[in-house]
Parts: sequence; C-alpha cells; structure tokens
Amino acid sequence: MYKNESALVLFSGGQDSTTCLYWAIKNFSSVRTLCFTYGQRHSKEVEVAQAIAENAGVPFQLLDASIISRLSINSLTSDIIMDQEKPVDSYPNTFVPGRNLLFLTFAAVVARSHGIRHIVTGVSEADYSGYPDCRDTFILSANASINLAMDEHFQIHTPLMWRNKADVWQLADELGVFDIVRTQTLTCYNGVVADGCGHCPSCKLRKQGLDNYLKKRK
Ligand code: ZN
Repeated sequence: MYKNESALVLFSGGQDSTTCLYWAIKNFSSVRTLCFTYGQRHSKEVEVAQAIAENAGVPFQLLDASIISRLSINSLTSDIIMDQEKPVDSYPNTFVPGRNLLFLTFAAVVARSHGIRHIVTGVSEADYSGYPDCRDTFILSANASINLAMDEHFQIHTPLMWRNKADVWQLADELGVFDIVRTQTLTCYNGVVADGCGHCPSCKLRKQGLDNYLKKRK
C-alpha cells in the first residue's frame, strides 16, 4: 500500500500492537518499532516486545516515558489495588490521562529523526472501554496538531480502529501471524504470556475475542 515508504509502530508486545506491526510490515517497505517504558509493573513486557521485534526482523527502540507514572496513580503503573478505592472519575482504573497524546507526540519526534512520516498505533474504538484517547476523533485531532506543531505531514494509521477483538484475531490470521500473536504476545495484567492468567480484565477480553473468532473461523 505504501511501498517505498517507512513506518514507525508504537509497540508494546501485546496482541494489538503486534498485529499492527505485521500489518505495517506488509504495507510499508521498512518498519521500526518504538516501545515506551513508563513504570509498567512487568518489565517482562519489554522483554516480550523486544523478542517479537527481533523475530520480525525490525529495529526495536525503547524510550523511557516514566515521567507519566510520576504524574498520576493508576493500576497500570503502580501496585496499589485501585479497585478498592473510590474512583476519582468515571474512567477505568487503567486509564493513564494524556498517555496517547504524549506517546504520539514522542513517536512523531522519533519518526522525524528517522525521516519517517507514517506512524502506526493499535488504538481501537470498537471495544471501547472508556478511553477517550483511543477514539478516532482524538487521533485525527492529534494528527492535525502534531503536523501543525512540527510543520510536517505525518500520517497516523490506526488499522484496528473499527475492529473488535475477534476482528483483530481475524486480521492476524489474514496476515499469516495468528500463531505468533497467540503464543508470543503479552496482554495479561498479571504478566503471563500468550493465553495469560485467564481472569484479569485484559485476559477475559482477549479470550472472548478469540473464542468469537474461532467460532466464525470453523
Ligand atoms: Zn491476565
């Protein structure tokens, strides 16, 4: 689709960003990954992400964005059990305010330094779980703002925007990486690779999508 052009993939080693990585490999002539660390409880996420990138034969860059974990408290970046506390707002306790705007801005700066104008991120509005910065309207707005801020022509791609979890499994299958995504990625909040711990919200969502897709696939 964009042959002779390069893309930077925001990459965490999870199901969504790994599917995006292989989507980018198919659609661009060269691809690099950018992985953020920001006080995730499981440094295993970084190891998993690096291994997937190596396996895919693409450069892996790690960027320390831990300032974000020093600005607010949430269950992705701290060990405090947020479920037992009164939520300060209506968003899920895994919501990190401003995260995707910061990450896209950092990604654009990194992409620019490599002469790359395509940025790929795995956000989705289909299984909308209340994250305002996963919405299509936000991505369009961020894209416009980043271009104005840097006087550039970045294009932010969101191949999963309108796909639910079953559709994401289907895309991985179409890209020929169903088994890679199923066995090598880490989406579990408890740090268990592949099918995960089975009982955290992320595992439940992943399994539900997988079951729905496998039913359809038969
Ligand atoms: Zn889990």
